[in-house]
Amino acid sequence: MAKSFAQLAKNAEKQKSAISVPKEPVENPPLAIHTLGNQVLRQPAKRVSKVDNAIRELAKDMLVSMYSAKGIGLAAPQVGIHKQILVIDIDLENSTTPPLVLINPEIISTSSSLETYEEGCLSIPGVYLNVIRPSTIKISFRDEMGRPKKMNADGLISRCIQHEMDHLNGVLFVDRVTDESSLGKELSEHGFKKEDVHMPPTP
Ligand SMILES: [Zn+2]
Repeated sequence: MAKSFAQLAKNAEKQKSAISVPKEPVENPPLAIHTLGNQVLRQPAKRVSKVDNAIRELAKDMLVSMYSAKGIGLAAPQVGIHKQILVIDIDLENSTTPPLVLINPEIISTSSSLETYEEGCLSIPGVYLNVIRPSTIKISFRDEMGRPKKMNADGLISRCIQHEMDHLNGVLFVDRVTDESSLGKELSEHGFKKEDVHMPPTP
């Protein structure tokens, strides 16, 4: 997800991570981020069977690429890897807060209350549009050491997790935008095609 939510970072739930990389852009990021129109973004990701060093290396490369693009979240399918791995860091300004690495994340429950937020995505650069989603979620996942975890999330972190989890199913935030005219306008202004947006999935 792209950066415009930093004002809500204070609400973030913090989680220790064993993977630490500088929150600085690098000249040659290890992974290229694919953009809307590329079919790799539409393929569902497979569960990770074993959390090993190769998975930790991938998560690390994803973080470096995310920080280089000034993003707050990145899902493996965005870099063409169809594994259920997400990296999230909504506190880019603070160099000491660890990022979140979510492996095989699953939604346990969502609130019935909904919220409208303006989302952006590193795979659709420049496009920001309102999306309605549940305000709070409860998830289970494995961390970068393979430990099973559960977490309640609200505010920005909830929004970011839901956005990134969509990527694991080949769903992009623009698929969920209900304001058709703003959608068409924003996409064309940034060089994207509305034909590459799919029908909104049922939440
Ligand atoms: Zn995204």
